Amino acid sequence: MSRTVGKVSGNSAAFLLTAIVDSSDDAIISEDLNGVVTSWNKSAERLFGYTASEAIGRTIAELLIPQDSQDEELDVSARLRRGEHVDHFETVRRCKDGALVDVALTMSPVKDDTGNVVGASKIARNISDRKRTERSSLLLSAIVDSSDDAIISKDLNGVITSWNKSAQRLFGYTPDEAIGKTVAELLIPQDRQEEEPNILARLRRGERVDHFETIRRRKDGGLLDISLTISPVKDSAGTIVGASKIARDITDAKRIRSALVESEARFRQLADAMPQMVWTARPDGYIDYYNERWYEFTGFSREVFGDASWVTAIHPEDMRATLEAYYTAIRSGQPYNFEHRLWDRSEERWRWFIGRALPIFDHSGRISKWFGTSTDIDPQKHVEDDLRRANEALEQFAFSASHDLQEPLRAIKIYGELLAKRHAEKLDPQALDYIRFLRDGAVRMEALVRDLLTYTEALKYDRSVEIADANAALRAALDNLSSAISESAAQVTADRLPSVPVSPTHLQQLFQNLVGNAVKYRSPERIPTVRITAERQNGDWIFAVSDNGIGIDPQYKEHIFGLFKRLHTKNEYAGTGIGLAICRRIVDQYRGRIWVDSAPGQGSTFRFSLPE
Ligand code: ADP
Repeated sequence: MSRTVGKVSGNSAAFLLTAIVDSSDDAIISEDLNGVVTSWNKSAERLFGYTASEAIGRTIAELLIPQDSQDEELDVSARLRRGEHVDHFETVRRCKDGALVDVALTMSPVKDDTGNVVGASKIARNISDRKRTERSSLLLSAIVDSSDDAIISKDLNGVITSWNKSAQRLFGYTPDEAIGKTVAELLIPQDRQEEEPNILARLRRGERVDHFETIRRRKDGGLLDISLTISPVKDSAGTIVGASKIARDITDAKRIRSALVESEARFRQLADAMPQMVWTARPDGYIDYYNERWYEFTGFSREVFGDASWVTAIHPEDMRATLEAYYTAIRSGQPYNFEHRLWDRSEERWRWFIGRALPIFDHSGRISKWFGTSTDIDPQKHVEDDLRRANEALEQFAFSASHDLQEPLRAIKIYGELLAKRHAEKLDPQALDYIRFLRDGAVRMEALVRDLLTYTEALKYDRSVEIADANAALRAALDNLSSAISESAAQVTADRLPSVPVSPTHLQQLFQNLVGNAVKYRSPERIPTVRITAERQNGDWIFAVSDNGIGIDPQYKEHIFGLFKRLHTKNEYAGTGIGLAICRRIVDQYRGRIWVDSAPGQGSTFRFSLPE
């Protein structure tokens, strides 16, 4: 530059120099030995925001150097003072508005005629754009390297141009070993070599290859199941110059898939071998699978699923209730359990089935499927019906028999008494004894008939739901037992009892029999105490009647609940052996249980359960 200047006069040379300096795209600044700015061109104004008049006279350090780069500036100044050049020094400078700008600095010492360093000239080039590109490509390569998938790029001849960490992990080659080799020679097994030309041809046409499942070879020779997604890469002019390739290891996914296929096949085999009809439904209740037995039984088409496939098989009278029960179960997620009739096309008649379905949950606890069965209960249903009819007839017979027996009994009792009262003087003592036996027998017979009647009546279960207050039922029972209780001086205590959905009469009968027995089978050695309690257990109420009486030998724990079963003669303790049978009959109706725990000689606890 100085040579050019030499050819023109001094003044115009200075103008020319200023013009050149001002027209430069780079900021050109000069400073003295103290770092004070002595010149500042137009580009310096544009780049840093200070005008020449704002900048000249102030130090570079205060104008441009960020706080954390002050040391670096001292270092550079020292080098310049020693007469050194600093070439392409990349750093950051602060602009007037506080923004930071990436710059490349070229700095030279300025010397006077004697060669002494008197200051420095600095040329600053804005390299923010380049830095930004560099940073984003760094970010991109960090992303590429952190991916679990192998990410590879290649040119249109299939030569590898980049190779990320997962590519190394998956295939075993380092970037040095892979870059520059072709995909075909490095990764593709011999029997699949034809794949690569096809892929390259598609890429050249600008097409993408999506989730192409294939096999590739690792460095150690092992084969990998992978899924490939390959996209063409274009340069800024839009010309296809290569491809980026994402390879995902699907060895596990494939194994799981084939295990699933296998287990599904096993399930179908099992389901088809079952005598029951088996089906599965989606979480919304749409039936999506039936076993063979279903098609055999119904003769329905295999193409039809959902409600359309089963609703028409159901007896019209059962259809509404079945649908209601089914969709209530689906909505609530509770097991489905329902009896209905299905049309048997081979026998051309309706048969009873019980349909059941259970929800299957996924690992997050959501219903993923319903598993259902339909079981033929037609034979049981008929046996049940026959049994019910036979039972009803028997009840009827027992009821009328015991009812009709009362009439002749009363006659025996009345005439026996008349005989004893009015003709006593004509009878000898033995005849009188016989009459007394006759009367006792009749009284006993009367008790038996009365208890039998109660027993048959205990079966007449009223299905309308009644709520019985157990406190009131117990009070009524104790009223009826009041003379037995006061005679024996028994102490009867009770907890606060709950209300239960049973007939109040039934509950009263239960208490009356159990408390009555507790008082009757008292020990002669102590004052009888009876305690009545209730506790909640698994959705049931368990009532307990405990006494300190004679107790029961454990071997008779079951026996005593049978009809007419007694452990004592009528001379020891009066009774018919029907009371506990009545109790069992009552709790059976409510699907409850009755049982006894006892320590002979110490006392017994009778417990019964009723629904909550
Ligand atoms: P009953 O009392 O009329 O004989 P139950 O059916 O009420 O008939 O009782 C059957 C048998 O169970 C009784 O005969 C008695 O031997 C025995 N039993 C019932 N309750 C008790 C009790 N609380 N303590 C001891 N034994 C009892």
